[in-house]
Amino acid sequence: MIKPPRGKTPRRPALKKPSNNSNLKDPVGVYCRVRPLGSEDQECCIEVISETTIQLHPPEGSKVNRNGEFKETQYSFKNVFGLNISQLELFDNVAKPLVDDVIHCKNGLLFTYGVTGSGKTHTMTGSPGEGGLLPRSLDMIFNSIGPYQAKRYVFKPDDKNGMEIQTSVDALLERQKRESQTSAPKTPSRQRPDPEFADMINVEDTCKAEGIDEDSVYSVFVSYIEIYNNYIYDLLEEVPYDPIRPKPPQSKILREDQNHNMYVAGCTEVEVKSTVEAFEVFWKGQKKRRIANTQLNRESSRSHSVFIIKLAQAPLDADGDNVLQDKDQISVSQLCLVDLAGSERTSRTRAEGSRLREAGNINQSLMTLRTCIEVLRENQMYGTNKMVPYRDSKVTHLFKNYFDGEGKVRMIVCVNPKADDYEETMLVMRFAEMTQEVEVARPVDRPICGLTPGRRNRNQAFKEELTRKLEERGGPVNGDLENPSAIEILIQSLPPLPPCNLVDVNDDQTLPRLIECLEKRHRIRQMMIDEFDKTAGLFKSMLQEFDGTLMAKENFIQEQRGKLGDKDRVITGQKSEVDRLEKKVKTLEYKIDILQKTTNIYEVDKRSLQQELETKDQKLQRELSEKRRMEARMQGVVSNTKMKWEKECERRVAAKQMEMQNKLWVKDEKLKQLKAIVTESKSERPERSEKPERPSREKDMVKKRSVSPSPVPVR
Ligand code: ADP
Ligand code: MG
Repeated sequence: MIKPPRGKTPRRPALKKPSNNSNLKDPVGVYCRVRPLGSEDQECCIEVISETTIQLHPPEGSKVNRNGEFKETQYSFKNVFGLNISQLELFDNVAKPLVDDVIHCKNGLLFTYGVTGSGKTHTMTGSPGEGGLLPRSLDMIFNSIGPYQAKRYVFKPDDKNGMEIQTSVDALLERQKRESQTSAPKTPSRQRPDPEFADMINVEDTCKAEGIDEDSVYSVFVSYIEIYNNYIYDLLEEVPYDPIRPKPPQSKILREDQNHNMYVAGCTEVEVKSTVEAFEVFWKGQKKRRIANTQLNRESSRSHSVFIIKLAQAPLDADGDNVLQDKDQISVSQLCLVDLAGSERTSRTRAEGSRLREAGNINQSLMTLRTCIEVLRENQMYGTNKMVPYRDSKVTHLFKNYFDGEGKVRMIVCVNPKADDYEETMLVMRFAEMTQEVEVARPVDRPICGLTPGRRNRNQAFKEELTRKLEERGGPVNGDLENPSAIEILIQSLPPLPPCNLVDVNDDQTLPRLIECLEKRHRIRQMMIDEFDKTAGLFKSMLQEFDGTLMAKENFIQEQRGKLGDKDRVITGQKSEVDRLEKKVKTLEYKIDILQKTTNIYEVDKRSLQQELETKDQKLQRELSEKRRMEARMQGVVSNTKMKWEKECERRVAAKQMEMQNKLWVKDEKLKQLKAIVTESKSERPERSEKPERPSREKDMVKKRSVSPSPVPVR
């Protein structure tokens, strides 16, 4: 998890944040831009397959291909921009919301990532007619704050990453002082722009932020740094050039301010008043970068460049005339536009010696960036608390607050579809996909200052009237930035004091010159006092005039107030009725909720009971069919047994019958023999010899039967 924001708004010292959405997080917005191929006969390894997805296929004859594993890979991003995307469309999609945030006091970080030649600089800076995100961002800022810009030096960076404020007269005096010190042009914005960047953006492309706070004044400061070989160089630093012993550029260090934001200590912050002026400053830095790279034999693709646009804003006072002199009310937000070094590995560029070491360091900082993103992602996804190694490189250390604190972070991954870059592009894609899993705390809205809105135009009618009258009487004209007032002109025209070091006793020039100058200044002072008295008198008479009107207006206001009170009462009554109804609605909603929950519980119960019923039913059915099967089986067994027993009975009955018949026959036979014996004995007595002889066969039979009386065995 990202550490919770430590109760701070980066670069917004005094304003306390409301805690409403401080826990909300947004993933890092990762966009992919595919540039056109360098020439038509180049082999292409990337295909844009939808608005959010690209497909990479290994080139012919690549290692992967030779192994027979032709593997296509797809990568998805928030948006994929193909060849037809214009610089304006890209700006609208990616950078515009960040610029909008900056204008509304929120910080943003936008960086381009990719191998050398993939279009990072084209995307960030662009070229004439095809201005990139940087000139477009500047243009949008100035279009939005244009009429509300503070005069130069009203805001003053305090060298500790903070901002101070001074009155417009002090600012004017400072301007005069600085202009007398240097031979710098008075107002660079009025100069003719350099043709090199004058037409970076087409006029019809200009855009503007909505909802700008008109009751504030604004000022833009830009810084431009380069990080090479893990050293930070200020590209806007004015170093007097010594042709005899040219000094190598001095590196800068990073510091943490009182709100724990990182900043480049002693870095030049140039106040700019228009897009052209800002871009002029950028171009100057760019030129310096080119010269340094050539002189020191560096390779520009190995350096990271960071352009910081700082927007300071402070509310107008209660009258809406001057800026409120309260440091705590100043808000400072910034947009960092980073063009990272080429992400390719050292081997590709065949670097040697110190160049190799430098390349190692460049790689080291991109590697640290990758490691930081990886650890952040891991901490967020798995709830671990591993230390993120921001300090290992200047790039990550500088942007620590964006990942650790709050802000909006967006990355544009630039890719060249040519097959030679296939392997490097794949690494870029993997890193980019991982990056979009990291979340950054969403910046919170700035609390509005307690003064009533609409201050800027409150005294407009009065001011216009005053201006008109003063003009009529030939007095000072109350003007804006472009039209300084008479007093301002007078201050500007104060002659600078001549040098007043007296080194020679015979010097008879210095003192008279000084006296003359002081007399001149005295005369101007007198004129200013007269001017002041005149204006004061005029003001007094006008105030009296206004007094009468004011009385009438006050009466009218009183009347309106009475009416307003009546309406207020009606509204209060209606409000309480609405409150009552709302409460009722809430109670009913609560009841509905409870009923819904109860219904849900019953519903669940019903479902489980139904399920139980179904299970039991199925079980019953199974048992029933089992029983029927058993019955059928038992019936079969019974009928079998019955048949068997019937047969057995029949057999036994037959055997018994046979036995009985035999017995009967034997008895019969015995009876016959007995009868014969009886008859024989009767006749023997008279005639014993008459006894009839039984046939021998019959005798045998009898003998036999008497031996075995049951010829059929009875079981
Ligand atoms: P990088 O900064 O990534 O090294 P550059 O932005 O310098 O790459 O691009 C290299 C070249 O390709 C430049 O000449 C540039 O004009 C051209 N180029 C890059 N992107 C595009 C694009 N989207 N359309 C047309 N030309 C492009
Ligand atoms: Mg580049």
